[in-house]
Amino acid sequence: MNLEYYNKYPDEHGKFGKFGGMFTPEVLMPAAEELEKAFNSLFYTDKFQKELNLLLKDYAGRPTPLYYAKRLSEKLKCKIYLKREDLLHGGAHKINNTLGQALLAKKMGKKRLIAETGAGQHGFATAIVGAFFGFPTEIYMGAEDVERQKYNVLRMKLLGAKIRTVTSGSQTLKDAINEALRDWITNVQTTYYLIGSVVGFHPYPLIVREFQRIIGKEIKKQILEKENKLPNAIFACIGGGSNAIGAFYDFIEDQSVDLYGVEAEGKKNDPNMTGASLNLGTNGVFHGAHIKVLQDKYGQIKTSYSVSAGLDYPGVGPEHCFLKEIKRLKTGMATDEEALSAFNLLSKTEGIIPALEPAHALAYLVKIADKFDKNDIVVLNLSGHGGKDLGIVQQFMGDL
Ligand SMILES: *Cc1c(COP(=O)(O)O)cnc(C)c1O
Repeated sequence: MNLEYYNKYPDEHGKFGKFGGMFTPEVLMPAAEELEKAFNSLFYTDKFQKELNLLLKDYAGRPTPLYYAKRLSEKLKCKIYLKREDLLHGGAHKINNTLGQALLAKKMGKKRLIAETGAGQHGFATAIVGAFFGFPTEIYMGAEDVERQKYNVLRMKLLGAKIRTVTSGSQTLKDAINEALRDWITNVQTTYYLIGSVVGFHPYPLIVREFQRIIGKEIKKQILEKENKLPNAIFACIGGGSNAIGAFYDFIEDQSVDLYGVEAEGKKNDPNMTGASLNLGTNGVFHGAHIKVLQDKYGQIKTSYSVSAGLDYPGVGPEHCFLKEIKRLKTGMATDEEALSAFNLLSKTEGIIPALEPAHALAYLVKIADKFDKNDIVVLNLSGHGGKDLGIVQQFMGDL
């Protein structure tokens, strides 16, 4: 069966089925349209591709290896390959997107970058490209997050970015989003708003997906070189969903390849302590798009929770909502404990300390590994390195 997916989504209204769209204040519509036009006319040109690919290669460190994890494969009794996004500059896949959007901003003649960040990982990746291109860069961050994420705040400041501490509401990511949008409305002529995942209103889910697709393109080429066939399954963690859609996208029409998106369950069986919006959320509007979101019965957005900061987002990108609805995407969850145990497993069997986000994807693979037999090929997208998480891991595991 041919899904005929690629030419259909998103449609001209930025919709993936009923998900996505542009639920923005009217004053932002011209800016969103300008962005869409600029992206469509620049991104697909040879010139842009050449420039971006050179940056991805020499500055960010692409292509990343697809590494056969032999000892882990023996333990889980299937053939596991790790896509090593953890080896990129900045320690995660986020640089694929921030480099791409900053190059776009430069071509559009914008003079300044703004972004919001929860845990600080996207703020850090934005501060890197702000310094690289010489853009004044301001990062909106909730006061509570500024307090919790001192190390990332320091890294952003060292790179020359200004931190705008947001003290309204819950003083976390959703309030930072509101403030960043307010800034964009005021300064839309000069300012580029750099969103960090496949979330927000159209055209962002499309733009970020296109910048992250390089992950799956490389996986396809590399696995065909190594195994001469496509994998049986690909696993990735989902916060907003950018590393996952990046890894999955070029396989969507290859229906023999199962796609597994893994969310943070957080504390076991506690609906108030979770980040799993695709699994546990309901339909609603958040960040300018119709998506699955964690909300209360009045439609107020709940504060999400996960041991891993990058999965601690109350919504999830519209394309994932749609892929789940049409049953092309399988979803799973892993708790804090399960992720920490997978973190331990990968560190000790492969000598690779993963970020806690992809440790969730590995944890879910561990849970369902007996679905696969020993010749089945499974690719796990290792979206980031664990250096940033050592403090939290130590809190949970105590002195080792
Ligand atoms: C931010 C982050 C994530 C979650 O974001 P997605 O958009 O879902 O990819 C996952 N892994 C790492 C290492 C991150 O830094």
